[in-house]
Amino acid sequence: MSYLVLARKSRPQDFNQVVGQVPVVKTLQNSLVRDRVAHAILFSGVRGVGKTTLARIMAKAINCEQRTGANPCNKCTSCIEITAGSSLDLYEIDGASNRGIQEIRELKEKIRFLPSSSKYKIIIIDEVHMLTTEAFNALLKTLEEPPDHVFFMFATTELHKIPITILSRCQRYELKRVSAEDLGAHFQKLAEDEGVVIEQAALDLIVRESEGSVRDGLSLLDQVFSYGEKEIGINDVIQVLGLVSRDIILSLSRALLEKDHGAAFHALEETFNYGVDLKRFTADLLEAFRTLILCKIDGCQELIDIPPQELDEFKSLAAKHSHNTLHMKLNLLMQGVEQMRFSSQPRLALENSFLKIIQAGDVVPVSNLLGKIDALLAGTPLPQKEVAVGISEKKKTEKKITETINSAPVSKPQPTPQADTEKPANEPGEAEPPLVPEQPPLPEERPSTTIEDDYKPVARPHQRDVRRDWPGFIEHVKDRKVWMAQDLQRTEKVKEVDGELQLHFADQANCTLLRQKENIKLLTEFVLDFFQKDLKLHIITPAQEDNGDMENVESPHKLRQKLANDPLVIMATEIFNGQIGDIRVGPRSR
Ligand SMILES: [Zn+2]
Repeated sequence: MSYLVLARKSRPQDFNQVVGQVPVVKTLQNSLVRDRVAHAILFSGVRGVGKTTLARIMAKAINCEQRTGANPCNKCTSCIEITAGSSLDLYEIDGASNRGIQEIRELKEKIRFLPSSSKYKIIIIDEVHMLTTEAFNALLKTLEEPPDHVFFMFATTELHKIPITILSRCQRYELKRVSAEDLGAHFQKLAEDEGVVIEQAALDLIVRESEGSVRDGLSLLDQVFSYGEKEIGINDVIQVLGLVSRDIILSLSRALLEKDHGAAFHALEETFNYGVDLKRFTADLLEAFRTLILCKIDGCQELIDIPPQELDEFKSLAAKHSHNTLHMKLNLLMQGVEQMRFSSQPRLALENSFLKIIQAGDVVPVSNLLGKIDALLAGTPLPQKEVAVGISEKKKTEKKITETINSAPVSKPQPTPQADTEKPANEPGEAEPPLVPEQPPLPEERPSTTIEDDYKPVARPHQRDVRRDWPGFIEHVKDRKVWMAQDLQRTEKVKEVDGELQLHFADQANCTLLRQKENIKLLTEFVLDFFQKDLKLHIITPAQEDNGDMENVESPHKLRQKLANDPLVIMATEIFNGQIGDIRVGPRSR
């Protein structure tokens, strides 16, 4: 007994049997009823949504001898021949293997003659985008003036590869992915026809895996049916298709979030025992973390496409963790998956990243930690509860920090996180007050508290001292505007006088860009951010006083300054976002 695959057995023979694509089907039917079928029709859409199926039904309907309405009768000679694939007037060409100009010439030769037994000759070219440019050009002439007895039906998965000259001569139909609802109903009916009882969850899973493609779904269904059982449950589908059960994914996500090493490794073991594809498995796991994050974002929950019961479980898991923690763990997982892809020991790589994710702990904003340190420094004890529930390692860190700070020889306990190891070349001239304590040594183990990058020490409750923290400020600016930091390094000295920040430059050329209005504004903001003071900026250069007699002086130094302040030069530095390096005065070109 020969087994006919579902995709062939269940191929729609008339418009009523087509799954989904309602608007397209309706338009095609109307064109048939009104006898206004275009001589060239192009169907586009992803694989398995019914492009060639519709083309064949159209071919049948056009040539049907007893058609009433739009549907082919499926009884006349023409219909039967087309169904059997023996019609002499229907040419089905695969564009992928017949893509040259020679094939198109042969085709044109064939359509010169009238149809042998039917009313029309119908040419179906599948994957038409594969034709060569020459072949398209040869086809174009025919499409411009198609013979009355010929209809063309094209199908393509890649509409953008078809020349516009061809597109403009076709009536175009875009086929959509078939909705989960339509697919589910269709597959359910097929299962009934086969005498197979299929559990709803199992059906849902097959529908999800088909991703809107009828053909993909049918081949999955074929696999499940040939499993031999008359009752199909979700575990059968998981096993046959090599999928990962949602339960495993959910319990693994939970284990990673709740730091349960044992559960995480067991879940992985279980998936391996199923012989699951690792790539697939990790994709599902990433998707689960995405779902968890979406659960946290207001108004994004309709983007989650999972059954309601599962959604509830995801929601309750997401509720226990902060958005930042979920995001951080998703990041680590993505890194792990990336490493796994290039590892000769993928399983080990994955386990390794699981350990990392579990150890990463929860994200605590730096501001919280700083607040605690401030409280410790001020001598106020931490709230009792926090000390009690704090992770032991975190406590250790905090203790260590206090110890270090207490033993450090500081006059004023004001820690600055920016312990600069390298100082700028051109640091302020005056003697500096005693330096800040060095960063406390890290404890042997990394604390389980991860510090988020965005919380870098910007918003400190303490005000900083302009002179003492100037190098730190330059570092702060460097992260935001490199050229500005470089210019600031060229200051001779900085002073804070009556709400004014004075920046002294020896050479005007070093601060031309800095002096521009928007840059002054930006710098003022940086100052406010960093020093927590609203200071008015004042840039002072020696050249300011003798601006007036610049014209008469031609000493090389003055000349350079003059050149540096030339509007053209300033504009050029502005355009290229650069700064003046070296100025050389050569012989005049004029
Ligand atoms: Zn017929």
